[in-house]
Amino acid sequence: MRRIYESIKLLIKNARTILIAGHIDPDGDTLGSMIALHLILEKLGKKSDMCCQDKVPPSFLFLSGADKIRTSPKRKEYDLFFTVDASDLSRTGNIKVTAKHIINIDHHADNTNFGDINCVELLSSVAEQIYKLAKELNVEINQEIAKALYVSIITDTGNFRYANTLPSTFEVACDLVLRGAIPSQIASAVYDTKTIAGMKVLSYALDKIEKRGKLVWSSLSHEIIKKTGATHDDLICIIDYLRAIKDTDVTVFLREEKENTIKVNLRSKGRTNVSKIANDLGGGGHIQAAGVTLNMPLLEAEEKVISTVMKNM
Ligand code: AMP
Ligand code: MN
Ligand code: MN
Repeated sequence: MRRIYESIKLLIKNARTILIAGHIDPDGDTLGSMIALHLILEKLGKKSDMCCQDKVPPSFLFLSGADKIRTSPKRKEYDLFFTVDASDLSRTGNIKVTAKHIINIDHHADNTNFGDINCVELLSSVAEQIYKLAKELNVEINQEIAKALYVSIITDTGNFRYANTLPSTFEVACDLVLRGAIPSQIASAVYDTKTIAGMKVLSYALDKIEKRGKLVWSSLSHEIIKKTGATHDDLICIIDYLRAIKDTDVTVFLREEKENTIKVNLRSKGRTNVSKIANDLGGGGHIQAAGVTLNMPLLEAEEKVISTVMKNM
């Protein structure tokens, strides 16, 4: 790691233009890490652009700097291009830039090491990596950076519940709290954001639950989603409700974003490796949280996913 940090330091020092990109369908980790890195670079006197193909969900807009994240990059060329929380360059979506150097900072086991520098560690979240990087760069973590990193950690660990929660995760979180991240305020800003449409669409998903052995799944058609007026942000948290059912291992949620575009969330409580299942289906992720997008009708996707899961359980 030492050599990696030294190279990153040098590249930052020599860069005049820097882009930080997150992954498609941005979550708390990719956004919190982008913002924290942006603020850290600012403290080093370096300006950076932030870019994410898809819009920042409203529940993360309270982070300072979130409004600066664009859906397309300002420039076509950059000296330095950071990707955070992306297991492959394709996960940054349609961001097309040329860069002299790509620095890939990620914690996915299936990372393809696509960068010129690959800072890949199996920690709870990219936030833990950015925290270490700040220390290496001698940047004092202020309240704004602490808040962004704390959001990354709680969202990627399911509030310190998932198996990726390590002793180091608590150490970093403790320091972030000491530096001004207020857990109750951040949890409220991130989680107490449900909408009526979201609750209605959730009721449809709950009504459709099916269980076979230790597998639980549900799905939502585009028609229902449209009828309730639910947005993308209302849909991404449904998997967390389904996952809470007792005596289950794998949870699957399929949603028809539009005709022939089915987004699938896969979660496991540990016995089954859902990253392998997602890989088999053309997606990816972690052992306990993975995803894939399938281009086929909803019923076909449901059959395909459920039979693949059953074979792997
Ligand atoms: P999600 O189910 O969208 O919350 O994603 C869970 C995990 O799987 C995250 O770490 C994502 O980055 C990863 N993931 C989701 N969809 C894909 C995909 N199509 N390809 C690779 N990784 C994915
Ligand atoms: Mn992520
Ligand atoms: Mn992550």
